[in-house]
Amino acid sequence: MATLRLDGLKKTYPNGFVALHGLDLEIADGELLVVVGPSGCGKSTLLRMLAGLEDITAGDLYIGEARVNPLEPADRDIAMVFQNYALYPHMSVAGNMEYALKNRGVPKEARRRKVEETASLIGLQDLLDRRPRQLSGGQRQRVAMGRAIVREPQVFLFDEPLSNLDAKLRVQMRLEIRRLQKRLGVTSVYVTHDQVEAMTLADRLIVMNEGRIEQLGSPMTLYDQPASTFVAGFIGSPAMNFLSAEASGRTLSLPCGNQLHAPVDAHGHVTLGIRPEHLVPVEESDDALAVQVELVEPLGADTLAYVQLDGQAEPLVVRFDGARRLEEGDRLWLAPDLERLHLFDPEQGQRLT
Ligand code: ATP
Repeated sequence: MATLRLDGLKKTYPNGFVALHGLDLEIADGELLVVVGPSGCGKSTLLRMLAGLEDITAGDLYIGEARVNPLEPADRDIAMVFQNYALYPHMSVAGNMEYALKNRGVPKEARRRKVEETASLIGLQDLLDRRPRQLSGGQRQRVAMGRAIVREPQVFLFDEPLSNLDAKLRVQMRLEIRRLQKRLGVTSVYVTHDQVEAMTLADRLIVMNEGRIEQLGSPMTLYDQPASTFVAGFIGSPAMNFLSAEASGRTLSLPCGNQLHAPVDAHGHVTLGIRPEHLVPVEESDDALAVQVELVEPLGADTLAYVQLDGQAEPLVVRFDGARRLEEGDRLWLAPDLERLHLFDPEQGQRLT
């Protein structure tokens, strides 16, 4: 087991493009750190640098006490699980799983024991003789996991391992990965662009933006206290609503004419953030926001409604209890939960505290 430490880790590609601007980060022993962010923010670059598949331009990478910058991928004691599984098609499940042990010179009997033990841990014991093409997507992903586990690495790296699976299987495998990672206690970095996966798996979570860490924290910290509109819009589904407002001390004036009590002192133009679940339906009143329903999306447990508020170009998304009957054209009154409002700088998008 080991910590993973990044000191000013920087990546400049040969064409001069800076993909990572010097990341500082310490991942605790046994921690599962999830890296999330939009396409092109540098997630894969980061993972490939950790794995040794990409040169480090500047900065240092430590596993435990050892600086591993100069080490080849095979010498880093890291196992990577890819989205395309990267299994050897001509080998059986057992062959795929024992491959790294064979390369390491582990004797046959010890390899067999390790493969069988791992196979029963992840439910592959009956499939050891099959070829990858005779397996479902979920089973292949399990083999890829198994292959990483038998190596008993110090660190697991996951590169969007569930993105080729259907929605139901993703949820199931997500749970399995979480359970296995905790049981094995292996320090892990998990890259995804799926924020639900990120929230549910992570001990801590990084939101990346253009090669920088926008925010690092527990999933609930990022949900409750997003450091910027970028993080606020990325964590939480559906995304946070943003409204422009004028602040004068603790009074916020909205374009629709309503006034709200602000969570912090502010002055001038601000961006107000309200999550869809923090707009509560109330009886008609002057204080409440009067809206008209544009579109209804019943999800079963919840219903999402897209509602029009005066002075607001984009509709607001509101999460209602699924039992509530809503129709397009309905007029409603909503009270924002004043404890859960977020204020941001309108230009830079930084949280006002
Ligand atoms: P995705 O979610 O789409 O996989 P990502 O967050 O993993 O995206 P990276 O693949 O790490 O993003 O790429 C980060 C940035 O670096 C992108 O702007 C990409 O175009 C650029 N990039 C990646 N590889 C190279 C390369 N070999 N040469 C130049 N630029 C590159």
